[in-house]
Amino acid sequence: MVNQNSLKENIFRFLFPPKCLVCGKHNNFLCYDCYSLIPLENRFQLNKNLPKTELKSLDKIYWATGYKNFIVKKIIQNYKYSPFSKKLSAILSKMLFDFVALNELDFKEIDFLVPVPSSARRKRWRGFDHIEEICRDFSEQINLPLLTKNLVKIRDSEPQMNLSGAKRKENIQGAFFCQDQKKIQGKNILLVDDVFTTGATLEESAKTLKNFGAKKVYGLVIARD
Ligand SMILES: [Zn+2]
Repeated sequence: MVNQNSLKENIFRFLFPPKCLVCGKHNNFLCYDCYSLIPLENRFQLNKNLPKTELKSLDKIYWATGYKNFIVKKIIQNYKYSPFSKKLSAILSKMLFDFVALNELDFKEIDFLVPVPSSARRKRWRGFDHIEEICRDFSEQINLPLLTKNLVKIRDSEPQMNLSGAKRKENIQGAFFCQDQKKIQGKNILLVDDVFTTGATLEESAKTLKNFGAKKVYGLVIARD
């Protein structure tokens, strides 16, 4: 079966060969010069200014950069929304990897890398699971086993960006489920997502993993809003 989105993507690529989304130079989706302008966080800014009472299930939270940065926002938006430049996942996984390397994080205690899943409807719309795609490269780069299709999104929810703080929590409640409890029992998990705003999605995912027996859950996001 021909995937409609990848067909669309190929036609788009043929008509518009890759050029830097920021400066327009023809070589890659983001040239080295523009990539080097992205400010990556260092370890001393971890967990700062986060509402601890709201994020009870997360043992630690790391974010690689800020969503207010023009380049970061542009890359993430082009990756997530039509015409879905799936190849941007390589840039986003590089951001995560460079952040990990910069801070010399080894994640020795972690058993699995788990992507925050999209609903089946969102995956069909995009043609791929956008966080899973990022995690595929990233898990190889940091040498951590990737566990997919265990934590799943069983209920479609309205995009969080359309909602205010309190509504976000309500919107995402009960949206996740674990398909194989045995596999995560007593394990430490590094949960990956793209953007952290109120943390409602990350918290709900972590809560589900813990309800199904995970020991520790660390959150790692690309950008904090
Ligand atoms: Zn550029």
